[in-house]
Amino acid sequence: MKELDRKRILVTGGAGFLGSHLCERLVEAGHDVLCVDNFFTGTRENVAHLLGCSNFELMRHDVTFPLYVEVDEIYNLACPASPVHYQYDPVRTTKTSVHGAINMLGLAKRVRAKIFQASTSEVYGDARVHPQKEDYWGHVNPIGPRSCYDEGKRCAETLFVDYRRQYGLEIRIARIFNTYGPRMHPADGRVVSNFMVQALSGEPLTVYGDGTQTRSLCYVDDIIDAFIRLMDAPDGSCDPVNLGNPHEITMLELAEHVRHATQSDSEIVFRPLPIDDPWHRQPDISAARALLEWAPSTPLDEGLRHTAEHFRMRLAGVPLADCGRETGVSRERGATGNR
Ligand code: NAD
Ligand code: UDP
Ligand code: UDP
Repeated sequence: MKELDRKRILVTGGAGFLGSHLCERLVEAGHDVLCVDNFFTGTRENVAHLLGCSNFELMRHDVTFPLYVEVDEIYNLACPASPVHYQYDPVRTTKTSVHGAINMLGLAKRVRAKIFQASTSEVYGDARVHPQKEDYWGHVNPIGPRSCYDEGKRCAETLFVDYRRQYGLEIRIARIFNTYGPRMHPADGRVVSNFMVQALSGEPLTVYGDGTQTRSLCYVDDIIDAFIRLMDAPDGSCDPVNLGNPHEITMLELAEHVRHATQSDSEIVFRPLPIDDPWHRQPDISAARALLEWAPSTPLDEGLRHTAEHFRMRLAGVPLADCGRETGVSRERGATGNR
């Protein structure tokens, strides 16, 4: 990479599921990456394979407190993402989204950095429009068990656009739909990780409700590709953009796909549907296609196979750094520095 193209990039929530893949991709590209995380749901092990790289740095820090560093770009991912984790301490979840956004925007303003917000399809709530397009304002319960996450992320979007209007910040807002893949936390309660762990342990797959609710699942490599394209999009690309896979399936169908990917004959059992569980979710990604020339390319069964390999190794006790597919950053390369 030419010295001029090399950037100092802060990734908050960088030790989490998506953050660790993003850090990996940015380190591989030769940027100087500062990963900031309070390890609430992420772990040091998720980025252990990067620790020896001379262009990677890990800092324990909670984004609800101010942070003074010098960077060119900020990816703000810090926030628990699974319903089980974000409902564990809902006040903290809102603080992370709102105070975290204020601090990272204040930082971006001081150093004139471009800043990316990991928003979510949850801003649409239990959507009455299908598929969801960016101009839909959503149907969100402000006082339910999911509100700490949904409203926190909505408020963060408001802060991002107001920092742009008021201070001229260069912002990016990704509305991310359900994403899965290696390094999901096995106990985070999300549907793919639950089904994977259950199928590989010979336990019944727990389908909530009657399993006819839908989600559209995107493989992690595709979403990370979209994050970087969005960050690199031309100046002024400041409107929220849906990122996800438009291929929509029911949770009952997903259970069958996971059984197939893991070659498991676990039975399926039905459990109560959580409160305010959105009924349908499918992104309209025409904006991403036009702006980023991007669409996901990993078929569900292929993504689930990679994910199953990862969980199989993890459940067998293989250290996280050695689990899953080959990555461009090997531990040996890391140990001697990446450039
Ligand atoms: P994750 O829980 O694996 O990662 C979140 C990371 O943020 C963790 O490493 C956690 O320790 C860290 N964190 C939490 N609170 C923090 C704080 N106060 N200070 C510093 N670090 C903190 O979740 P993920 O799936 O990787 O999600 C990453 C981001 O993407 C989140 O903002 C989430 O809302 C968003 N998102 C994810 C999905 C998805 O399907 N994975 C969908 C929509 C949006
Ligand atoms: N902030 C930070 N790092 C910086 C600059 C600001 O964490 O480099 C935080 C700081 O806590 C501040 C917040 O960002 O309260 C918002 O900053 P801004 O300049 O927008 O507002 P103000 O300082 O007036 O509150
Ligand atoms: N779900 C399920 N079984 C599980 C976990 C989740 O049927 O073990 C359902 C859940 O009710 C929801 C969907 O799968 O309808 C996706 O849930 P997840 O928590 O992964 O993400 P959400 O999109 O709800 O934030």
